[in-house]
Order: sequence, then structure tokens, then C-alpha cells
Amino acid sequence: MIKQALCFLVFLHAFHQTHAVQYAVTNRALTTSGGVAFRDKIGEQYAKQTLDSATQFIWRILQQSNPADRKNVQRVSLFVDDMDGVAYTSGDQIHLSARYVGKYNGDVKKEISGVLYHEMVHVWQWNGNGRVPGGLIEGIADYVRLKANYAPSHWVKPGQGQKWDQGYDVTARFLDYCESLRSGFVAQLNKLSRSGYSDQYFVQLLGKPVDQLWRDYKAKYGNIAQETYS
Ligand SMILES: [Zn+2]
Repeated sequence: MIKQALCFLVFLHAFHQTHAVQYAVTNRALTTSGGVAFRDKIGEQYAKQTLDSATQFIWRILQQSNPADRKNVQRVSLFVDDMDGVAYTSGDQIHLSARYVGKYNGDVKKEISGVLYHEMVHVWQWNGNGRVPGGLIEGIADYVRLKANYAPSHWVKPGQGQKWDQGYDVTARFLDYCESLRSGFVAQLNKLSRSGYSDQYFVQLLGKPVDQLWRDYKAKYGNIAQETYS
């Protein structure tokens, strides 16, 4: 009996090993003050843990519990680089700006955790073979950051913004509204975006065109949606 239980544990361990995502953190900016700040205030170990917890959180929010539901990614690499900006993700590689870490005022560990959650969403979310609008891609990444309680205080409040696909915090708040109308909405929208994209997905999931949803959302917070011309 004990032997059988042990065999099962060994099996579980082997199963977990083959399915677990590996994480690598490389600080390529150690000769800069930002790179040193990353080493001293965040550290490779904490960064690795955060990458792992981000992945687990994203799989839950996007309902990707089954390997068949998600991208075939075995390893995610984080590079701390001496570069401008904040961070970007290309495939399974996340690049974080050491300069941003170095000059950030406030709780840098919390801020970088939020940045890593955002970037990790780009690793796992579907982009409809390149057809999902950029603003929606960034909105979903910030929506997950919001749900993880890593939204910075400078973000727009609910109901603010000019258009639904403005991106980042504006779209994240709008998606949160859509989620309140139908639990699992963001996960379903992402699932539908696996091989293509259409604004009709909003109609399919919520029964209204996205522009109508945006007007409803603005009205809920006492704002009038502005017609925009360009
Ligand atoms: Zn992004």
C-alpha cells in the first residue's frame, strides 16, 4: 500500500516535471545602477517566483487549466536590460528595463510584479493570428494585472477614457465592466481569439455591439460617450 502510494507520488512528480514551465532570469545590466537596483531590491529568486505565480494566475483567469487550451510554452525567459521604456514581450521572452527599475519611486517590488503579470499575459494570451486590436491585447494584459491587485494608483478610474479599445487601463476597466455582465467574459473572449478576431464576439457573448456596451459603461459612471472624429 505504501509502495503503491510512493509509486503514485513518483509518477505525479514526473508528470509535473514534464508539464511545468521553466523560468530563467538573466540580469544583463549589472554594470548599471538600474541593474544593481534590480539585484538588490527585487532579485532573481523573487522574479522567478513572480513569473510562476503570474502564470498560474493567468491560467486561472483565462480558464486555460488544460494544456490543450494554451500555447505550447515550456520556458519563459526574463532579461533585465539596460534600455528605455518599461518592458516588452516577444514570444516567450520578457525584457524589463533596468533603467525603469532604477528610477522608480515607491514600492518597486509591487510595481515590477505588476509589470511582470502584464507581460506574462502577452506570453499566454491569443492574438487571433495577429488580428486582435493592439488596444484589446494591452487591455487584457492590464485587466489581469487589475484582478491580481497590482493596478497602480495613477490608473484611470472606472468610466474614464475616450474609446473602448484605447488600451491599457482604459480598456482594462471596460473589460472589468463586461466581466460584471457575464462572469468569464474575458476568458471566453480570449478563447474565441485563438485563430481570428471580430468585434462581433462582444455581440456573441453579451448580446450587444461593443460600441453600445461602451456607451452603457460610460452612462453607468455618469459620463457621456464622446463622438470622436479624426
Ligand atoms: Zn503590454
